[in-house]
Amino acid sequence: NAFAALGLAPELVQAVADLGFTQPTLVQNATIPKAMNGGHSEGFTDLMVSSQTGSGKTAAFLLPVLHTLLEQQAAAEAAERADWDRQVAEAEAAGQPAPKKPKRKNPLLARHFTPAVPGALILCPTRELAQQVAQDAIELVKHCRGMRIANVVGGIPYPVQIAKLQNADLVVATPGRLLDLQRNGQIKLDKVQFLVVDEADRMLDLGFSDDLAEINQLTIQRHQTMMFSATFAPRIQSLAQRVMRAPQKVQI
Ligand code: AMP
Repeated sequence: NAFAALGLAPELVQAVADLGFTQPTLVQNATIPKAMNGGHSEGFTDLMVSSQTGSGKTAAFLLPVLHTLLEQQAAAEAAERADWDRQVAEAEAAGQPAPKKPKRKNPLLARHFTPAVPGALILCPTRELAQQVAQDAIELVKHCRGMRIANVVGGIPYPVQIAKLQNADLVVATPGRLLDLQRNGQIKLDKVQFLVVDEADRMLDLGFSDDLAEINQLTIQRHQTMMFSATFAPRIQSLAQRVMRAPQKVQI
């Protein structure tokens, strides 16, 4: 499978095969290896990608971001298991009974909501696009255990949105509603490692420049930013300069 050759996790390769994608599109071939930094999980590169709707751009940013989140999740689980094994071994050596494994709680049944702290944030200019991107993300993680996707857009009642945000790993949002929830303490952006600005040109057309600047300031732990845009017009270049560090250009 050509997607496996790009180094993507088997769960993602399987999902892509289920969708009937046999070959990566041009933008996927050009973006995915760069975004994954050749499989090294350090020193991510910022990317500025020219892309049209219908080019396969959505999977071009979702796949590498999900891949890295999965890698991190696997590493965290392995560390947790090792820690648990150590606790059991210590209890055994001390002649004590094995410690009780803490129960995992279903966050959807929690009485009090804790703020969501997603590791990845995808910004879209419109509610329709954000919903489409979230749908695509849900399709792509169908073989992944415990990878939660949340959609944050205007027009959905707050309680429903807040419940769905619990424990989200990847959030797809329109900027205005995202900042509302951030100001109300429902979501924290300081653990966002991966930020994607989809359709950056439309984002500026719709007047989201100040919101983008604010989100840029709030995502202080960012490792990587990707901007997708139909054009590299001067105003897009200047936005890129404000939110990215030495971005590599991917022009299809
Ligand atoms: P997008 O440009 O992200 O809006 O994607 C346009 C359409 O292409 C969507 O319906 C995708 O499901 C589809 N698509 C994305 N990647 C591939 C691929 N590698 N092979 C076939 N179809 C794809």
